[in-house]
Order: sequence, then C-alpha cells, then structure tokens
Amino acid sequence: MSSMFDLSGKVALVTGANTGLGQGMALALAGAGANIVLIGRSEPTETLIEIAKLGVKSHSILTDLGSADNVAGIVAEAAATFGSVDILVNNAGIIKRNEAIEFTPEEWDSVMNVNLRTLFFLSQAFARHLVDEKKTGKIINIASMLTFQGGIRVPSYTASKSAVGGLTKALANEWAQHGINVNAIAPGYFATNNTAALQADEKRNSEILRRIPSERWGEPSDLSGAVVFLASAGSDYVQGITLPVDGGWLSR
Ligand code: NAP
Repeated sequence: MSSMFDLSGKVALVTGANTGLGQGMALALAGAGANIVLIGRSEPTETLIEIAKLGVKSHSILTDLGSADNVAGIVAEAAATFGSVDILVNNAGIIKRNEAIEFTPEEWDSVMNVNLRTLFFLSQAFARHLVDEKKTGKIINIASMLTFQGGIRVPSYTASKSAVGGLTKALANEWAQHGINVNAIAPGYFATNNTAALQADEKRNSEILRRIPSERWGEPSDLSGAVVFLASAGSDYVQGITLPVDGGWLSR
C-alpha cells in the first residue's frame, strides 16, 4: 500500500516554499521521495537544508510571482535541472486587509495577480509541457476557507480563493483527458505569517479557536497527508476537488 504514495523519482515544483505552508508541503513531498524545485522571491535557505536531510535533491528558482511573465521559463528550468516535471503545487499567496469601501486598485490587483493570474498561467505552462512530452502529472492548488465562505475585510483574497476553487474544476475538466489531475487543498486556520495579524488579535484568536472542533490552529505538517495523496498515484481518479484540511471548521 505504501508504494501507492511513493514519490521516488518524481519532480515537484512548489511555489512560495521558503516558509509556512509551502515549506511544510515541500518537506512532505521530499519525505515521500520527490526531488523539489522551490519557486519564490525569497531565498529558501532553511527549506533547502531540511530537504537535503531527507536525502533527495532540490533546486531554487528566484522569481517574483506577482507577474506571470516568466512562467514558461520556470517550467523549462525545472525540467532541464531534473529531466522532467511531475507535480506542481501552486501555494504562493498574499492577503490584503481593508474595508471593501476603502479597498484600492493596488490591494485588488496585487492579490489577484499572485493568487489567481500567476496560478493559472503557471498551471498552463506546466500542462503544456506535460502534453508536449506526452506525460501525466498532478496540479495541486492552495485554496482557503474563503473558497467556501465570504470572509470580512479581505475582498480580493475571497475573490481570488473562490476563483481557485472554480478554476480547479475547470482545468480538471479539460486536462483529465491528458492524465493530469487538478485538485485543491483548502487549509483552515494555520499558524503562519499569513495569519499573524489574526493570531495576535486576542478576540479574533479566541473566536477562531472556539469554532475549530480540533481546538487548535493547524501546523504546516498537518497538510502532509493531503498533499502527498494528491501528488501520488493514490489520487489518479480524483479530479476537481477542493479538499478541506481544517480541523473541522467547515463542519460547524
Ligand atoms: P506565508 O507564510 O505568508 O507564505 C506565503 C508564501 O508565498 C511565501 O513563500 C511568500 O514569499 C510567497 N509569495 C507571496 N507573494 C509572492 C510573490 N509575489 N512572488 C513569489 N512568492 C510570493 O503564508 P502561508 O500561510 O504559508 O500561505 C501559503 C498559501 O496558503 C497561500 O496561498 C495562502 O493564501 C494559503 N492559505 C493559508 C492559510 C493559513 O491559515 N495560513 C489558510 C488558507 C490558505 P515571501 O516569504 O518572500 O513573501
């Protein structure tokens, strides 16, 4: 059974893996045997060191994902480095908090560009490569509780993550025929930089904890099982889903 989840010899691209959930998922995929390409704007020093300890290879591509101009170059560099690409985890994301009535075009565009526009065009570049090479692969998008709910004071984040849920289904519908699985993970409330403001706000922190049946914030390693499953042969017939990993938040 464990061979179904074995990623030995596979190559996984993970965006935003210098910290937080991206780092946790990169380490989980490396732990399952994959070589990892880390894509982001900050040097992922700690992640590279931790991956090396797991006995697989890694490569870092430094690029600003606020623009989708370089997506074909990213896929080409990853494929040239390790000879192939198999898995793409679209994790990089940002959030801007402001009243909807005050929200600025910059707060809208910056979030939509990283969370949605680059996610789409990087997925397209990855899928084009697989189709050209007649190879199968896995795309895993990182969604959010705000793929299902409205949130408050985060209109561009909610719009982007709701769109990620829809886009995941749309791409699965088109690319399943090529043996490309497109699925998403919706993390609940995880303790990372992205939620630092919420964790620090005593009132919001206790409101959030009260609603989580597991009675704690998630840790990046809580995504390990879901990401390895969706990256592995174990999910070959799973298409277009957004899998919540939320300690039960959505069940309340
Ligand atoms: P995080 O610690 O802030 O990490 C975000 C990652 O995205 C970092 O590596 C960051 O790089 C990268 N990134 C942001 N803008 C970028 C850009 N323009 N170019 C390249 N890389 C960029 O947050 P996180 O919580 O791990 O979030 C990871 C993903 O999970 C995001 O899509 C987020 O929306 C989603 N998510 C998080 C939670 C949660 O509770 N934490 C819940 C649901 C969904 P830098 O370090 O250089 O900024």
